[in-house]
Amino acid sequence: MAATDPVAERLDRFMARANAIYYATHDPFADFTTSPEIGQVFGEIVGLWAAVVWQSLGRPAPVILAEAGPGRGTLMADALRAIRRAVPAFGAALQVHLIETSPRLRAVQAARIPGAVWHDELASVPDAPLILLANEFLDALPIRQFVRRGDGWTERFVAGGEWTERPAFAGDVPPGRAAGDGDIVELNEPARGFVAAVAARLCRQPGAALFLDYGPARSAAGDSLQALADKRPVNPLAVAGSADLTAHVDFADLAAVARASGSAVQGPETQGAFLSALGLFQRTERLARGQPAKASALMQAARRLADPEAMGQLFKVLALRSPGAPALPGLGDR
Ligand code: SAH
Repeated sequence: MAATDPVAERLDRFMARANAIYYATHDPFADFTTSPEIGQVFGEIVGLWAAVVWQSLGRPAPVILAEAGPGRGTLMADALRAIRRAVPAFGAALQVHLIETSPRLRAVQAARIPGAVWHDELASVPDAPLILLANEFLDALPIRQFVRRGDGWTERFVAGGEWTERPAFAGDVPPGRAAGDGDIVELNEPARGFVAAVAARLCRQPGAALFLDYGPARSAAGDSLQALADKRPVNPLAVAGSADLTAHVDFADLAAVARASGSAVQGPETQGAFLSALGLFQRTERLARGQPAKASALMQAARRLADPEAMGQLFKVLALRSPGAPALPGLGDR
């Protein structure tokens, strides 16, 4: 009987184990592409965003420029180049701290970002003025899934590469999502914990955080677990660690978590609107004029990042700032 299978593993535990193996053994970027890998302009714009934020915070020094889940280090390398050129005083004041669990990716990052300090988690990053960046970090954190069955709930487990369900505690199920019989409701506890911890820091120290990720502005019920291998969707329950597992980020939920933890919140805004407001196309045209041979590739990259039918609409941006800090650029302030 599946329901009593002793080797069944709760989905979040399976996902955490699978992704730890995956990131330790694969070059993830053979299996999927992220915004910073599409074009240098992405990291440059994020770096200039951080520089403007630093100025608006009153130019604290020292200041921590942190990134969670930096992958190949491309975003940070592009951001630092733009910062040092445009606002050298920020370049001189900042210390780079990277939150990364994969030893393999840490080695790749070390080659690109000399002088960075690594952490397994946010808790060990020193408590100081902070500007934190995270692109496609929250979507890689492990989720739980609950299934509406009659007037109760079950939780999804994985056993021998197959789904199985066990009775759930109703108190574990996130409230407020309409769910009919058989509907799935997702919960990303580490993402909520991470955002709450960042928000709490921003109440103690001046700073801001920028989360870029994929998901609808407000999640409905549904299964968003996705596995990619070789840039194609595969069965997420196949051999643990053979594919990258991600799930939609619930931006409305995380915005509420951040507010409840005391920070001011801007967004979610679409990635297309955010990058366009910060001059993606102007910057791309300027780069293209300097390198005519690359002009069409540069324009193509910019469109892929910002067009609604590519990454411009599904990808969202959520920003947090210290209570009382000036509004952050590129996002509406509500
Ligand atoms: N930001 C990069 C990489 C995204 S892939 C980019 O946009 O290209 C997800 C990243 O998060 C990888 O670097 C992965 O090793 C890291 N990661 C996943 N789970 C993590 C965790 N629990 N703590 C710290 N880093 C984690």
